[in-house]
Amino acid sequence: MVRTVKLRVRVNHEVYFALEEVVKEYGGILEDALEYGLRSGVNSFVRLKAGIYGAERERHGGLPSHYIYTACEDVSMRLKSFLRLRRLGRAYTDRPELRSVTVHLDDHLWRFGLDAIQVATKRGWVGLEPQYHRLFWMYLNGGWGLASEARFKLLKGNVVEIYLVFKKGEPEPYEPKGFLPIDLNEDSVSTIVDGAPVLLETNNRKITLGYHYRRLAITRGKSTGDRDVRGRLRMLKERDRKLDARRKLAKLIVMEALRTRSAIVLENLPKRAPEHMVKGIRDKQLRLRIYHSAFSSMKRQIIEETREYGVPVILVNPSHTSSLCPIHGARINYRPNGSNAPRVGKCPVGGELWHRDVAALYNLLRKAGDGRPMPLASTGPHDPHVIKMNVRPRAKSLHSIMSKMKVQGQTVSEA
Ligand SMILES: [Zn+2]
Repeated sequence: MVRTVKLRVRVNHEVYFALEEVVKEYGGILEDALEYGLRSGVNSFVRLKAGIYGAERERHGGLPSHYIYTACEDVSMRLKSFLRLRRLGRAYTDRPELRSVTVHLDDHLWRFGLDAIQVATKRGWVGLEPQYHRLFWMYLNGGWGLASEARFKLLKGNVVEIYLVFKKGEPEPYEPKGFLPIDLNEDSVSTIVDGAPVLLETNNRKITLGYHYRRLAITRGKSTGDRDVRGRLRMLKERDRKLDARRKLAKLIVMEALRTRSAIVLENLPKRAPEHMVKGIRDKQLRLRIYHSAFSSMKRQIIEETREYGVPVILVNPSHTSSLCPIHGARINYRPNGSNAPRVGKCPVGGELWHRDVAALYNLLRKAGDGRPMPLASTGPHDPHVIKMNVRPRAKSLHSIMSKMKVQGQTVSEA
């Protein structure tokens, strides 16, 4: 497992100047390596290095020689991914583009220290003194090892952005004692905690639409190349905020599975199915955006979290998950008597009522091979408990939210 942590450090003018010199020369080596790779049809690190090392060494006297190594590695990766894209017909340029330069560092080019990070330049080692943030300490003290490679780039105002890479081996998944079904929806994530169905409201659709309209308001009648427009779009931080919310929700789910030593059961969703999963949105791009953040990105985030803790995952066939009665296997009628409450339906065999998400959860359990008896049919619908997730949920665990809910009543607007 690999995680990258980004730090921003303000440095004095001399340090910035020394690093700027490295960036310029490194950028030159990148271009030469790319040129050479394309001209001679090679893309392996070894052959790129063999091809340009001598000339670059001469051209960049005084620059630590390992920058030539890391630049060749960088170009080798860029060429390989470019060729892959071209094979898939998804390369839109005739050669890989080198836009902003991010300098790659290996163990000869930087040294880590809690007081300062040293970087090798033509003028010797220069020190960066970062303010380490919470995420950094979390990885450092959480059993992650700092990798020998790092990257940096220069921002305006004497600011250096440095990327530290943390690595950790994946634990072996444990033998599950039970199953934790997870049903992903446009606006919610459902699961079963302590035997009770729970619907965690994410408001994904509303949030995505909100960002969409704010983005439209910013760009209306203006070019997106406009500096002011770009700055205001960045200020929205849509991606960061949604990722943050997703990560926290995924963590709550994975922690619940870990607590009960369960395997997480997810639908193996089709890669492209926004058509029927996101309804009532005509804009195709917007529909995709909602689909991705609610389904594929959420699923990916949960799976990524499980790797860290060795929580097993079972992917099951998504067909009919919410349309069949988990007890009788009959097709649930979601519009009895033409009513417009499509979330709750009636089983034609037992006559019991089912909330769509709850039916999905029990069907997921069944598909995963859980042999426990299904909940007894009752006359009322199996309504889930509803938890409204804040954008930044604070709760430690789903179990604790549920315990609190049993004291307070049905709906908890906290998390
Ligand atoms: Zn039934």
